[in-house]
Amino acid sequence: MSNDWYPAELDGPEWVRPAEPPCPACPCHTLRVCTGKVWHLARPRHEGCPCEAAAIAADTPPASRQVTITVAGVTRTVTAQAPAVGFGAGLLLTPHVFAANGEHTTGPVPAAMVLAPATARTPADLIALCDKGQRWAVRLTASYGGREVAIGGWLDA
Ligand SMILES: [Zn+2]
Ligand SMILES: [Zn+2]
Repeated sequence: MSNDWYPAELDGPEWVRPAEPPCPACPCHTLRVCTGKVWHLARPRHEGCPCEAAAIAADTPPASRQVTITVAGVTRTVTAQAPAVGFGAGLLLTPHVFAANGEHTTGPVPAAMVLAPATARTPADLIALCDKGQRWAVRLTASYGGREVAIGGWLDA
């Protein structure tokens, strides 16, 4: 049996669907998947796509906690951010309510405190308590201008 009757002009490479343009921000998906946020439909399912992680972080509002902190003998309760995902996840981030000094500062500068969950080794006088009853470690070093400063008290105390 011969295929001689087959028109010659249809010979050639098999028709291939044009490739979707890749996403410029991740190595795993096409642009259509990431701009449409349809990662759950992509096959195979990729774990750890940076576009998907960024979208989840953006859609998750940071929770806040009331945390009671004692610094320089003065105890106050402040509202701290408690991010569930992304930068600072698992930590408490206070507003800039502390006064700090560093070798590169002239006079006290406003500083925010980052509190990590307290451990068995956290000294009792460096423990802060949040409204969820969790114990947090007071951290008396902060960052100002990209360099370390020491928290010495409250800004307006
Ligand atoms: Zn992407
Ligand atoms: Zn991706």
